[in-house]
Amino acid sequence: MPPFPQAAPHQLRNTQQRTNLTRATRTIRAKRNRLVAEKDDWEQLRRAGAAVKDETLRHLDRYLEQFEAAATAAGATVHWAPDASAANRIVTEIALERGVDEVVKAKSMATEEIGLVEALAAAGINAYETDLAALIIQLSADVPSHIVVPAIHRNRAEVREIFVRNMSRFGRPAPEHLGDEPHELAAASREHLREKFLHTRMAVTGANFAVAETGSLLLVESEGNGRMCVTMPQTLVSVVGIEKLVPTWRDVEVYLQLLARSATGERMNPYTSVWTGAHDADGPQDVHIVLLDNHRSDVLADEVGRDALRCIRCAACLNVCPVYERAGGHAYGSVYPGPIGAILSPQLRGLDDPVDRELPYASSLCGACADACPVQIPIPLILEHLRAKVVDTERTLPPSPERAAMKLAAAVFDRPAALGAGEKLAALSRKVFRGERGITSVPGFSGWFGARDVPAPPAESFRAWWARTDGGRRDDTGDGR
Ligand code: SF4
Repeated sequence: MPPFPQAAPHQLRNTQQRTNLTRATRTIRAKRNRLVAEKDDWEQLRRAGAAVKDETLRHLDRYLEQFEAAATAAGATVHWAPDASAANRIVTEIALERGVDEVVKAKSMATEEIGLVEALAAAGINAYETDLAALIIQLSADVPSHIVVPAIHRNRAEVREIFVRNMSRFGRPAPEHLGDEPHELAAASREHLREKFLHTRMAVTGANFAVAETGSLLLVESEGNGRMCVTMPQTLVSVVGIEKLVPTWRDVEVYLQLLARSATGERMNPYTSVWTGAHDADGPQDVHIVLLDNHRSDVLADEVGRDALRCIRCAACLNVCPVYERAGGHAYGSVYPGPIGAILSPQLRGLDDPVDRELPYASSLCGACADACPVQIPIPLILEHLRAKVVDTERTLPPSPERAAMKLAAAVFDRPAALGAGEKLAALSRKVFRGERGITSVPGFSGWFGARDVPAPPAESFRAWWARTDGGRRDDTGDGR
């Protein structure tokens, strides 16, 4: 994807996608609002959600070690992955050591972030997505556009088309005469996936929460495919970002109330799976947990930016964002789209790439995201903080026309004589712009002028008027009044 300013106009022209997105986000928003209104203590829950995450992040080292000790005692093997390539290497080696060339996979943002499916494919291992939306994305060689509903930009007619065309390349083909009713599509995917669950010996998942006191992982989902992944295969590998830690089960109670309402507008998720290590003759016997840093420690070191690590990936900020609703998720060029992507991706990936430097500007700063966020992440504040970082970073880069113009403007504003001369020049330029039309384009600034017009400069500047009239005390009209 190109940077957001180039990608967004292209996405905006996709009217089908805009219609699908508008319909889907409106539906989720309405459900969420209804269920949030039921809770008298919603604001207290939000405050608790923020406070528990802050406390956990403040002592993350301690909680991580506590989690590792408890999970190991329960029979799991805990691996530490400082970055994406280490995490991919660990998962790949586990598969290769067991002679596995196929894995089933539950939807997981962490594995999307590190590109695990591609890394496994490079080692000759096929990873099959089992979440319905993730399956749609995989079958159509698409990329996710939403955190909770990755195929939110597709409607059911498109999904039917994808199933009919591509299911057979991945396993059981779509049934003949498949219609586009939701129950028909769900049944087709169930048949397709059942074969995978029955024959695949290894599963890969993420986790929504990791409970330090018992070394347990929690996965919440709507379809039951995650439950199949964490119970059927012999080997289970979970890739978990280190910010998923919570200290106790008491804390989980807070997040389960916040997450389901914020994500899908439900009182609780249909499936909440919990596993703690391995148990004889019950579920996977070979359980691995990969604790993923991948620059989360750098985010933690930033006093303003670290609040982004509270995120519980509910996507409420996406569903209320007017920019996301129009531009769609692909325009962000990031696994994490929408407002959370605009603050998380530049922090996780750094500001070297223009795609990441543009993300903090992919917002109108209206603040709807912060109001909706169940863990009170001050997204607009972090966006402003990152914009300042972008400006600092760009000072070190070769000059662009915009930076050269800003430098010139700074020099002029710094010198009263230069400013006066500039104002006279601007007044003279009215002839060039023929009075009222204003400036609508300047070579090298097409991005800026694409969205804005500059009014025609005034015939006389305020400073010139002030000097001529002694601050308005002398006749200004020429008619003696
Ligand atoms: S930033 Fe807040 S609203 Fe957005 S996904 Fe994260 S927790 Fe949900």
